[in-house]
Amino acid sequence: MKRFTSRADREVSAGPCAPETADGGTPMHAAIAVAADDIRDLTLENLFETPDGRRVRTCIQCGTCAGTCPYGDVMDYPPRRIIAMLRAGMLERVFTSESLLMCVACYACMAKCPRGIALTEVLLPLVKEQVFARLPETPPELQKALENTLRYGNPMGESPRKRTAWVKNAGVPIRTLAEDPRPVDVLWFVECQNSYYPRGQDTAKATARIFHALGVDFAILGNEEKCAGECARLVGESGLFDTLTDYNIAVFRKYRFNRIVTSGAHAYDAFKYAYPCAGFSYAVDHTVPYLAHHHLDALKSKLTRRLPYTVTYHDACCLGRHNGFYDEPRALLQAIPGVRLVEMAHSRENSICCGGGGGGMWLDTYYKAKGYERLSDRRVKETVATGADVLAIACPYEVSRFEDAIKVLGYDDKLVVRDVTELLAEAMVE
Ligand code: SF4
Ligand code: SF4
Repeated sequence: MKRFTSRADREVSAGPCAPETADGGTPMHAAIAVAADDIRDLTLENLFETPDGRRVRTCIQCGTCAGTCPYGDVMDYPPRRIIAMLRAGMLERVFTSESLLMCVACYACMAKCPRGIALTEVLLPLVKEQVFARLPETPPELQKALENTLRYGNPMGESPRKRTAWVKNAGVPIRTLAEDPRPVDVLWFVECQNSYYPRGQDTAKATARIFHALGVDFAILGNEEKCAGECARLVGESGLFDTLTDYNIAVFRKYRFNRIVTSGAHAYDAFKYAYPCAGFSYAVDHTVPYLAHHHLDALKSKLTRRLPYTVTYHDACCLGRHNGFYDEPRALLQAIPGVRLVEMAHSRENSICCGGGGGGMWLDTYYKAKGYERLSDRRVKETVATGADVLAIACPYEVSRFEDAIKVLGYDDKLVVRDVTELLAEAMVE
């Protein structure tokens, strides 16, 4: 595999720092993120010198992690077996298996582990890094996405100059800090998918309209924004992640603002758990909890258009299992007159991943070649079973993944995918 910029001979690896807590919003339900010590220098070699590492030793080999993993039945080495091999000094076997390419960093194993072991946050990225390092060839789509991210600052390979192309059609004024660097309350980190992908741009425009209607003092980085890098981190490209981290923090430091609000669920995770390792200390929030915590009452008075939709909400892994934001998106959806909210068989902590995390966004061809069902297909079937006509989401990856699954499965006449902010904006009469 072609490796990108690396930390000195892989001497340090990815891992979360102590979470930034000043995000102005307390999840309405408990999150499972681990308040880890600073483990920026954590490696498999020094794993047991840290509290998180020592917790790995407490594994009782119950197999709950494997049982709850959406790909646990096809992985040679689900978390339980990885720990067993680690104990037996046989981790090299895990490194030479492609098994961990199936891990979509969904946090299900970590959420259910009775010993509270930081599997998705700590152990799996460390092992995955070694797996990718030994792969004779990285799956081409993933390789391309990583190269694009390094070269252009976004996985699509789009020109950085086009990052703000959507702004001129947003319908409301949007301030770009490079053009108008006055201090601002909210620095809105739009994220790659919402900047470039046409359906993601719909989400960006909806969010801008909502901020504008609420009188939020906001501005964007515009063409200065680059990918937050969370997926690079979770596929073991910690060098690429560091490059993006350093770049984005340097840009943040040019401006004065009170908080970062991002539309990216993965960007939120990166800023909250990993960027603090590099000196990032800003208050950070995701759009959905930000609106639910700070603007719900004001929003309600503006949601005057009735939307006669039956809606089911897909809990994104980062927002739900990792951060406990289960009630916030539902509170926003229930504030829309006419919306009937129904739940899927697997929801909240038991939600099934869309399959886009941990590099899965660019591994569909790989999964298909192996004969595995895409998780997005599995999830769409479950959505249709609820009778909902709208699948509401709050993570930019999910629009493209679920819309593609709907098309492939032939449910075009039954189901549409809408970001929570799109539904809110549609219900606002201006
Ligand atoms: S769920 Fe936790 S304790 Fe049980 S086997 Fe997995 S890692 Fe070990
Ligand atoms: S993070 Fe999700 S996909 Fe990865 S091993 Fe854990 S349960 Fe499986």
